[in-house]
Amino acid sequence: APGLYLVATPIGNLEDITLRALRVLRSVDRIACEDTRQTQKLLHFFGIQTPMVSYHMHNEFARSEELAAELRAGARIAVVSDAGTPGIADPGGHLAAAAIAAGVPVFPVPGANAAISALIASGLSTERFTFHGFLPAKQGQRRSALEALERSGTTHIFYEAPHRILDTLTDVSAVFGDAQPIALARELTKLHEEFLRGPVKEVSSTLAARSLVRGEIVLLLAPVQETEAAEAASIASEVAVLQKAEN
Ligand code: SAM
Repeated sequence: APGLYLVATPIGNLEDITLRALRVLRSVDRIACEDTRQTQKLLHFFGIQTPMVSYHMHNEFARSEELAAELRAGARIAVVSDAGTPGIADPGGHLAAAAIAAGVPVFPVPGANAAISALIASGLSTERFTFHGFLPAKQGQRRSALEALERSGTTHIFYEAPHRILDTLTDVSAVFGDAQPIALARELTKLHEEFLRGPVKEVSSTLAARSLVRGEIVLLLAPVQETEAAEAASIASEVAVLQKAEN
């Protein structure tokens, strides 16, 4: 059917593409790709020859309008990112919104996603979780972001770059204490897939002992505890509410 297909692609292991994803990629008119060279490798592996068009951070807005016009005219367009689910810390969201605004159907074609894959094997609570994407690269902003995390029983999920992970773990220690339980998933679905689980200090020492941390990383924090300061602030605000009610 005409419309926009948001197609998930593997995050490492090429077997993690679905039969439906392959059929859709084969049969659409065009594939909008974050990086055409990256997607070309995938298409070549599966013998798919559908024409590609680039769709990334820098032309997302302009391209969305262009592609929305094609969609209105009845085209079938797939959107893929370099890896995983489009729209999740990746381009795709604007195009979906543009298609919806143009009255065009949008079809999710679900598949691999690093955050969910890391979460389900982390051993941390999957009942309630919050996905934050990437933390700020600057330390001050990163600490503020950590301090601002919700403290009411949700597992926190972050994407992090290998060259920043040790600094980030230092900040996690500083804000939540050395004993804060975390899980770190590296190179998911790939040959050197690895999980490190335990108090942040321990995971951090394990990583620090390596000459170089490489690969793609998902960082998860177990639900964080109310700190004394935050607790005092929340008690104060409850008292204020009660006082108001009395007046
Ligand atoms: N759209 C993708 C998804 O659905 O997971 C995420 C794209 S985001 C630009 C890339 C980040 O996702 C990486 O820096 C890393 O934090 C995480 N990631 C992607 N693939 C991964 C893998 N195989 N193992 C661990 N983390 C991965």
